[in-house]
Amino acid sequence: MKIEIIKCLEDNFSYLLIDELTKSTIVIDPSEAKPIINKIESLNLKLKFIMNTHHHYDHVGGNKELKKLYNAKVIGFDEDKHRIPEIDISLKNDETWKDGIFEAKVFHVPGHTLGHICFYFFKENALFSGDTLFSLGCGRVFEGTNEQMFSSLQLLKNLPIETKIYCGHEYTLKNSNFCLKHDPENKALISKIGFIKNQLAKGHPTIPSTLEEELQTNIFLRSKNVENFSKLRDLKDNF
Ligand code: ZN
Ligand code: FE
Repeated sequence: MKIEIIKCLEDNFSYLLIDELTKSTIVIDPSEAKPIINKIESLNLKLKFIMNTHHHYDHVGGNKELKKLYNAKVIGFDEDKHRIPEIDISLKNDETWKDGIFEAKVFHVPGHTLGHICFYFFKENALFSGDTLFSLGCGRVFEGTNEQMFSSLQLLKNLPIETKIYCGHEYTLKNSNFCLKHDPENKALISKIGFIKNQLAKGHPTIPSTLEEELQTNIFLRSKNVENFSKLRDLKDNF
């Protein structure tokens, strides 16, 4: 399975998961159709599935057009099926979904929205974390509680440390300023910031990160308890 990163809108990431043998592909969180279509056409792929981590427009904006154009099936969370546009296949928490070489486990991770899920492609050790876990940050808590977001992050922390993190936005540099302010002596963080600036200067994404790096550098993942987490989340909202 090959993973292509596609920049969408201002700072969103969509992803194409490609079976290089059959040329079938899955798109994760198509913010808009155009850049996805361009990539699919340039690589001569067949879009089979559209997967959504949550219902926000910048993650589902391309659903309708892509589904119509390629006759693809939309996959989302069962408890959120009323607000995932054009949904065909609804998955439950902990369910394993499979089609050909593609195999993913679904984690329900409420907090950013109540029906947010992550897709974990365990054979490749790749987590598509949407707006729950960012590199050096986490999503704003819009619908859930800080307790829910904190425990969602605890769940993701239990994945293998080599897990690659593919998140929904290029927020890494902005996030790094906040981490550094509250964790100024963290050597792993300082060195990661060097890498981030380098990537961005070359016009490259800062994604994927790994769980191991995030455990060393992401102040939200490093929070030991929900009180500390909530304090940081509030500070970040006004940062
Ligand atoms: Zn969102
Ligand atoms: Fe988003």
